[in-house]
Amino acid sequence: MTTPLLGQMMDVPLTVSSLLAHAARHFGSTEIVSRRIEGDLHRYTYRDCEQRAKQLAQALIALGVEPGERVATLAWNGYRHLEAYYGTTGFGAVCHTINPRLFPDQIAYIINHADDAYVLFDTTFAPLVDVLAPQCPKVRGWIALADTAHLPAMQTPALSYETLVGAQDGDYEWPAIDERQASYLCYTSGTTGNPKGALYSHRSTVLHAFGASLPDAMGLSARDAVLPVVPMFHVNAWGIPHAAPLTGAKLVFPGKDLDGKSLYELMESERVTYSAGVPTVWLGLLNYMREAGVKFSSLQRTVIGGSACPPAMLRTFEDDYGVQVIHAWGMTEMSPLGTLSKLTWEQSQRPLAEQRALLEKQGHVMYGVDMKIVGEDGRELPWDGVAFGDLHVRGPWVIDRYFRKDDSPLADGWFPTGDVATIDRDSFLHITDRSKDVIKSGGEWISSIDLENVAIAHPAVAEAACIACAHPRWTERPLLVVVKRAGFEVTREALLAFYEGKVAKWWIPDDVAFVDELPHTATGKLQKLKLRDIFRDHVLPSALADEANCPLTRGNPAA
Ligand code: AMP
Repeated sequence: MTTPLLGQMMDVPLTVSSLLAHAARHFGSTEIVSRRIEGDLHRYTYRDCEQRAKQLAQALIALGVEPGERVATLAWNGYRHLEAYYGTTGFGAVCHTINPRLFPDQIAYIINHADDAYVLFDTTFAPLVDVLAPQCPKVRGWIALADTAHLPAMQTPALSYETLVGAQDGDYEWPAIDERQASYLCYTSGTTGNPKGALYSHRSTVLHAFGASLPDAMGLSARDAVLPVVPMFHVNAWGIPHAAPLTGAKLVFPGKDLDGKSLYELMESERVTYSAGVPTVWLGLLNYMREAGVKFSSLQRTVIGGSACPPAMLRTFEDDYGVQVIHAWGMTEMSPLGTLSKLTWEQSQRPLAEQRALLEKQGHVMYGVDMKIVGEDGRELPWDGVAFGDLHVRGPWVIDRYFRKDDSPLADGWFPTGDVATIDRDSFLHITDRSKDVIKSGGEWISSIDLENVAIAHPAVAEAACIACAHPRWTERPLLVVVKRAGFEVTREALLAFYEGKVAKWWIPDDVAFVDELPHTATGKLQKLKLRDIFRDHVLPSALADEANCPLTRGNPAA
């Protein structure tokens, strides 16, 4: 056998630190602006950021943190959180970002499961830390992201981040670590059972940053000022803290105030061109803008993902405010980006209605990710835009297994996402449901997301969820649960009539329930499991009508 001829290029490892080092060296004076917990606006540059990230690395090493150990964060989007990203991963420790909106018991579980050595926290979370600390005896220290003057009064002894960082000189070289070493640990939000950890590597993080930066993916650029509303505690803010230094984009961090007014003012004052967040956040922003009668003067593009972007929201952004919406799909297990909605040259020559229909979908895969839909027998389904199937993915930034779990989640080398989708002839993905939320009516599948999108387009609807409700003849039929927009009225009949001509007749929900609010997960997704529980005993009018004629229930009082 002949020896394979190896390439003769430099073997430079793909390390997370190289992203910040690149920005510090080549975009050294580009700004990072943060609205701080202290109440003011903090500004510095990539050069300053790298300097302080190095000081943090020195401080953590001095505290005895070893490469491979986990250092956790409980923090909003801000410059200190960015320093924590790089100051931990930079010397081989693992940055474990924790979602503070989870229940304290879940957070304690996560900290203990991850075996975190230290936890860095924003002072807003001091009361939470006091609840967590007694449950997490193995944590060696809790570090408040503040100077001594801003250390909060708390029962848990806390160190001051600024004191620790200030004691170091930053004279430190990032070590060349193996690119397969772990970089970040992110737990899924765990709507059922305990959260599971996705452990990224330096290589997967850097490749994901490359992919995210491509023009037909997020398409970040040094000409952008990017404001990630998506939290840095949720799947690394979709990779923006890595793609921004890679491309040299200016970063603007909103801190803890994510209401419409605060976001709008920050976007305007910092001339933000690019943003990213979940639909719920944009709802708040758009409501504020409508009431205040204001427009964007600099925002050009925004990524919307995490849940399906209602087409009505997409239209408002594009038609009323001239902002391009990039609908994106992904998940924690995918670092998170998988698909984004951007048109090819040929697609952009088609009639406007066709272009819009494509852009409402979750989009085209980025290089690096491959996807397929499979039927119940595991066989691949056609890409015809009609066949629904379980969505499977694979690629260098998709997980192989969960942290500290032995069993493989993969099926034939592919990761089953738990989402149900169609893929059309244009290779555009359309997520129709989580597999457990699909509504199965008489053996046919109805997409709850499509039904919610129609309801949301009604002017009197603030939020909508569609769930399966038991039905004697069809097994399940859709029930629409609606929160009315303040000051608006709408009846059940008017809402059901609103569906006419927009979806197949047999998809139209059987009933509407009005509620004051809908349950959400810690990452802002609808908690349909809880909603189904709430409406477990709901009787559909159509079920009552059918019951008298149904052979299964006729004359059976127990049914
Ligand atoms: P997470 O791991 O918390 O980011 O959640 C990932 C899940 O969110 C996916 O598996 C989808 O069910 C859902 N999701 C994310 N983006 C979208 C989107 N654009 N449309 C519909 N569902 C989405």
